[in-house]
Parts: sequence; C-alpha cells; structure tokens
Amino acid sequence: RKDSERKRKKMFNLVVLATGNQNKVKEFKELISDFPVEVKCLSDFGPLPPAVEDGLTFDENAYKKAHHVAKVLGIPAIADDSGLSVKALNGGPGVFSARYAGEGASDKENCEKLLNNLNGIEDRDAFFTCVLSIAVPSGPALTYEATCNGTILESPRGEGGFGYDPVFYYKPLGKTFAELSFEEKNEVSHRGKVLAEVKNEFDKIMVWLKQRMIEEMPEQPDHSEFEGNDWSE
Ligand code: IMP
Repeated sequence: RKDSERKRKKMFNLVVLATGNQNKVKEFKELISDFPVEVKCLSDFGPLPPAVEDGLTFDENAYKKAHHVAKVLGIPAIADDSGLSVKALNGGPGVFSARYAGEGASDKENCEKLLNNLNGIEDRDAFFTCVLSIAVPSGPALTYEATCNGTILESPRGEGGFGYDPVFYYKPLGKTFAELSFEEKNEVSHRGKVLAEVKNEFDKIMVWLKQRMIEEMPEQPDHSEFEGNDWSE
C-alpha cells in the first residue's frame, strides 16, 4: 500500500513531454521551472511504439501524440503540433508543413517548393499555428492554440530560426522570422504565445491534472486500521 501511495503522489507531479526534439524539451523545462512538477521526456523511458500522426488538423495531431504517450506510460503527457497555412494554397501546407517537399525534406527544399507554388500569385497571406495538447491516459485533454499572421516573401531573407522562417515576413517588425533574434521571435510567434498562455495557466492545469489522475486511479479503501479487531463478539 505504501508503494502504491508513493506511486500515486509521484504521478500527480509528473508529466512527460511527448517529443523527441531536445530543444522543445529544454524550452518547456525552463518555462515551468518555477512549478512543483517533474518534467520527463521520451528518452527517459526508452523506446516506445510511435504515435500515428495522421490527423487532418493541428488539434488532432497534437492530441494524438499526447494521448498516445499518456496511454502507453500511464501519466499525463504534453505534445504540440505546428505548421504554416497559406491562404492562396487553401491552408496548405498545413499539417504537411514538415514534409511538404516529401518525407525527410530539408527546410530549404520546403521553402523552395512553397515559393514555386506561389509564383505569380499576389495574395501572399499566411499564418503559423501552434496547438499544444495536455492529455491524461483515459482520454480527456486540455488544448491551447495560438496563431501568428504574416506574408510569404518572393525570396528568403535572414539566417536565423528554422522551417519557413526565412520566407515568413512579419509586418509589425518589418522583418522575416529568420531576421529576428530568438527572444524577438518568441515574443510574437505562435509557439511563444501558446507557451506564455500555458505558463499563465499552469497552476490551474496542475489542479485539473490532479483531479483527472485521481479519477483514473480511485483510492483503494483502506481497511488496515481494522486489521487487529476481534469481530467475534
Ligand atoms: P512540428 O510541430 O515540430 O512537427 O513542426 C511542423 C513544421 O511546421 C516544421 O517542420 C516547420 O516546417 C513548420 N513550422 C512550425 N513552426 C515554425 C516556425 O516557427 N517557423 C518556421 N517553420 C515552422
């Protein structure tokens, strides 16, 4: 019983980040370092069966990743999904952002394909989306979402960032995302905004997680105080 009590207590203060990306892990650990919660990452658990990331929306994929890991490990899991949506491409590349120019395509190849597909098109409006899902093993989840609007340039500018940053022009600062410092980008980006919201709400998130986990693992009735009783009379 003591063991299971210890396990329960531990479970309430433990979350796992369902990502293999060490940058995301570092960023998240720093973000919630003030909270009494232990953050694990996938590599702390050894190889797990992979999640099937076949959703048609960012929400769906973030949830699929988070819930898959929560279910396999039996503890709350956090996952995000993000991408670029271009108006003239009916929202594409969207959930296919990472593999737009094919499975394993480089950032440069993805940007080139995007510029080719937008060749001669005047409407260059686009936005990034980031969805973060926090799921418990039985299914329920919290979802946080943010977007960031911009336009797609005709040729890349800047050396920083990753993905579509060199072609994503952010008008309020007059620069592409690849021309911003890490801190400048975080202030305004889809990911930065989602993480700021999660940080603001983290006390509430922990209460929610604790309640869900109590429901998942109802306390066994404790009969130990009656053990020595003599019921014969
Ligand atoms: P994931 O959410 O890590 O799977 O990322 C999906 C893909 O969306 C990335 O590989 C990038 O191509 C693109 N993407 C997401 N966020 C950004 C960003 O902040 N800048 C540039 N590209 C991004």
